[in-house]
Amino acid sequence: MSSQSIIPQASAISFDQRVDEIAKQVATYHSEGKKIFASSSFQPQSVVLLDIISRVDKNIPVYFLDTNYHFPETIEFRDQLAKKLGLNIIDLKSKIPVDKQVDENGEPLHVHHHDRCCHINKVEPLEDILKENDVWINGIRKGQSAVRAQMQKEEVAKHGVIKYHPILDWDSKMVFQYINERKLPLHSLIAKGYFSVGCLPCTAKADPTKPLWSDDRSGRWAGKAKTECGLHTSL
Ligand code: SF4
Repeated sequence: MSSQSIIPQASAISFDQRVDEIAKQVATYHSEGKKIFASSSFQPQSVVLLDIISRVDKNIPVYFLDTNYHFPETIEFRDQLAKKLGLNIIDLKSKIPVDKQVDENGEPLHVHHHDRCCHINKVEPLEDILKENDVWINGIRKGQSAVRAQMQKEEVAKHGVIKYHPILDWDSKMVFQYINERKLPLHSLIAKGYFSVGCLPCTAKADPTKPLWSDDRSGRWAGKAKTECGLHTSL
């Protein structure tokens, strides 16, 4: 699907100025001798942060939390973006093999124990990376959840790491306008009715009665109270 066909028309926004501000902030971190990394889930909207990182500093390592439960289309998207943007992408996996991630009845943790499953596959592997770094860049946005709406552009994470959220105030229309303006590829699951894409067992299609950009996390842990994997609440 072409990004042109799903993007609402809206007034032009100075994305270049926003990227310049992010570049200045990253340069400040470098001048202070801080060690920087980024994380990305390579879901549809991740392409914006990844493109910005490729414009600002391609050497910043980008960690991908490979939970073993991603859609094959997400893995293809990761590989496509790595090639197109020339990024330094590093896969991170849990130390616990997937066949050992089961409950007392032998069922995979993602069936009844989502928080535990997310902790093992996302929080623990990334916490090890926090210990080695000073700044963590990630692409969360206020519109994605009530928890994220309360966050600041810079926050202190575990181990004294600065969490830097450069696109915190971007809404999903801006995200798709940026994708359109920069002629970036779209995750192929958007054409199949998905919007926010996480792990396969915990992701449903977006509500087809609403515009795609009207609910930033539509389809994640559908029918459950859970809205966060824990990366942005535990670390
Ligand atoms: S999103 Fe689902 S499958 Fe993925 S780590 Fe969390 S609970 Fe497990």
